Amino acid sequence: MKKAFKYRLYPDTATEKQLSWTLTRCRELYNAALAERKDAYQQYGRVTVMQGSERVVAAMMVTGRQIRPMSFYRQKRDLVDIKEERPEYQEIASHVLQDVLSRLDKAFAAFFRRIKNGETPGYPRFKGRNRYESFTYPDGAGWKLTTEEQGKKLAGTLHLTKIGRARVRLHRPIEGTIKTITIKREVDQWYVIFSCEVEQPEPLPVSYEEVGIDLGVTYLATLSNGEMIEHPRYYRKAQETLERRQQALSRKKKGSHRRERAKRLIGKAHRKIARQRRDFLHKQSRKLIKRYQVLVFEDIQTANLTRRPKPKRDDNGTFLPNGAAAKGGLNKSILDAGWGIFMQMCTSKAEGAGRSIAKVDPKFSSQVCSNCGQVRKKELSERWHSCDCGAELDRDVNAAINILARGKRVLGGKHPTSATA
Ligand SMILES: [Zn+2]
Repeated sequence: MKKAFKYRLYPDTATEKQLSWTLTRCRELYNAALAERKDAYQQYGRVTVMQGSERVVAAMMVTGRQIRPMSFYRQKRDLVDIKEERPEYQEIASHVLQDVLSRLDKAFAAFFRRIKNGETPGYPRFKGRNRYESFTYPDGAGWKLTTEEQGKKLAGTLHLTKIGRARVRLHRPIEGTIKTITIKREVDQWYVIFSCEVEQPEPLPVSYEEVGIDLGVTYLATLSNGEMIEHPRYYRKAQETLERRQQALSRKKKGSHRRERAKRLIGKAHRKIARQRRDFLHKQSRKLIKRYQVLVFEDIQTANLTRRPKPKRDDNGTFLPNGAAAKGGLNKSILDAGWGIFMQMCTSKAEGAGRSIAKVDPKFSSQVCSNCGQVRKKELSERWHSCDCGAELDRDVNAAINILARGKRVLGGKHPTSATA
């Protein structure tokens, strides 16, 4: 099982300069390789070819009478020529450059896969200055991590060949075997992400509780047993900071240094929100997985369409309050990302723990009476479910009960609680 460990890096000025330099070279290589493929694609279209024992769709390039696939392997061989023409590339570990090409290859693979599925995907895009923020060492070459005890703490140093070294703040221990490392820039901070192979954790003891989960604006989650998970308080504070900085940005002149600085401050605020949100959602998802054997969510993609008014944006692209978001008082961008990440976290934790997750169609989940099945139409503003059959309960709890019932139908007898229920 793969697990990622992310730590803050503290490069000195010289090392940081090298890191930025490397990022720029990687981005240039990515764009150059993309341009090459784009030309090939436009001139010759795509063809299916055999590559080793695999059948791949690739853009073709014709040299003389020989037809060669414009592929990762081709471009990888070209790296030798590139290094001759642009000696500065010799300063970068080969495997890092190969990874750049492999990223492009993945982008193309996804592009062709979607075409094959009858979709109309966007063609892989050139990366602008702030759109290429990481590079990867795909194996053990070119880097080394050393650690030493400093009192109670573990201090780390990351050595990168031809770049330099930087302190790593190891706030939690690395587990398993490190497979790849990625160096990432987030606004003005640097991070290292170790991707590790760890052993599958022991499944948790079987639980006989199951739960339906309604994700929402007022509360992060309303559970079918009536419990609620509140959005953390600090979201609100973070949002105030964000709004203040967005207003400040709108007053700055386009192209000015002050505007650039204001933009960076906004980036920082987003980063802080993202970090706080991850921590919070990890904690909450751990709790749910520990307690429940079966967790049922709404299928969020459909839920988004059916449940809430469309977000409105002002001229600067910031979200204006709409009916749903205004009620909770939280910025839509904060909430939206949260739901998806939360479900993802629950799903991946469930796999390791032997829990079951179902996602169900959310249609009418808040309108149908969870007690008798009648439809009780209500406006978004009605927070209470009241029915002729005598059912009286919170609107979201009613929805969560419906979600659980639908999930149990989807899972059928495949989950352990059904045997005992
Ligand atoms: Zn009823």
